[in-house]
Amino acid sequence: MKCADLHVHTFYSDSTFSPEEVMACAADKKLSAIAICDHDSIGGIGPCESLSGETGVEVIPGIEMTAEKVDAEIHLLGYCIDWKAAWFVKRLKEIQKARIARIHVMVEKLNEAGINVKAEEIFNLAGRGTVGRLHVAQAMMKTGKLRSYKEIFEKYIGFQKSCYVPYVKFSPKEAIEAILKVGGVPVIAHPALMGNDDYIPELVDYGLRGIEVYHTDHKQAARMRYEEMARRYGLLMTGGSDCHGLGKGRVLMGSVRVPYMLVEKLKEEADSIKRSNR
Ligand code: AMP
Ligand code: ZN
Ligand code: FE
Ligand code: FE
Repeated sequence: MKCADLHVHTFYSDSTFSPEEVMACAADKKLSAIAICDHDSIGGIGPCESLSGETGVEVIPGIEMTAEKVDAEIHLLGYCIDWKAAWFVKRLKEIQKARIARIHVMVEKLNEAGINVKAEEIFNLAGRGTVGRLHVAQAMMKTGKLRSYKEIFEKYIGFQKSCYVPYVKFSPKEAIEAILKVGGVPVIAHPALMGNDDYIPELVDYGLRGIEVYHTDHKQAARMRYEEMARRYGLLMTGGSDCHGLGKGRVLMGSVRVPYMLVEKLKEEADSIKRSNR
C-alpha cells in the first residue's frame, strides 16, 4: 500500500539530515510521500522537491509553527502551503531572528544555573537551520553533566521550566490564520504533548482542519482519544514520525505512516482553502 510520513524535519531546522539524506531515507523506507515540516522554516522544501524525481518520493510542502497559551505550548502543522509567498517568507525570517535573540537569553540563564554552554556552540550546531531547543539540548549534553534529553527538558528547557525562554507570543489563532492565508491546511501536531485537550475546540473555531492522531510520542490510549475527537469535530486524522534524523537518537522516518489517500484529502482541503482565499 502507498504510504506517507507527514512529519519530517531537515537540517533547515533541527534535524541532522540534509535534504539528500531525508529523501534517500524516505526512498529506503518505501514511502510514496513525505511532508517536510521544519520549525519556522521553508528552507528544506525546495531542495527536497528537486530530489523528488530521482527518488520517486513526493514532497508535500509544510511547516511546523509554535504558538503559546498561558499554560501550554501548541505546535501547528501547515500542509500544502504556498511556501514562496513573500509575506510568509518575511514573517519566518522575523521569527528566526527572534529565535536567535532567545538563545542568548537562554544561555545566560543556563550559565547562571551552572551549565557552561556558549551561544556560539549552539549556533554552530544549528548550522543553517532554525535554531531551537534541540540544539541547546545537544550543547548541554556535551558538558557531560547531564544524563538525558529527558532530564534536560524536564529540569531546564522544557516549556516554562527554569531556563525556558519564549521567542514569540504567537497565539494559536494567529498561527492558524497564517497557515490558512498561505493556503495551507492547519493541523495540530502531537496534541498529547500539549497536555491539555480542552484547547482543541477553540482551535477548531479558528479553522483547524486536522489532528495528528498518529505520532511517535502517542501511545494507544492517545491515538484512540484523538481518533474519537477527530470524528466528533469532523477533522482529518493525520500522522507522522517527527523524524529529526539522528537529532533525537534513532532515525524515526517511516515508523509512523498513513495511507496515501490522506495526502489526497489534504490536497483537496488545501485547494478548497486556496479557493476561499481568492
Ligand atoms: P523549539 O523549536 O526551540 O521550540 O524546540 C523544539 C524542539 O524541542 C523539538 O524538536 C521538540 O521535539 C523538542 N522538545 C520540546 N519539548 C521537549 C521535551 N519535553 N522533551 C524532548 N524534546 C522536546
Ligand atoms: Zn524539532
Ligand atoms: Fe513539534
Ligand atoms: Fe516536529
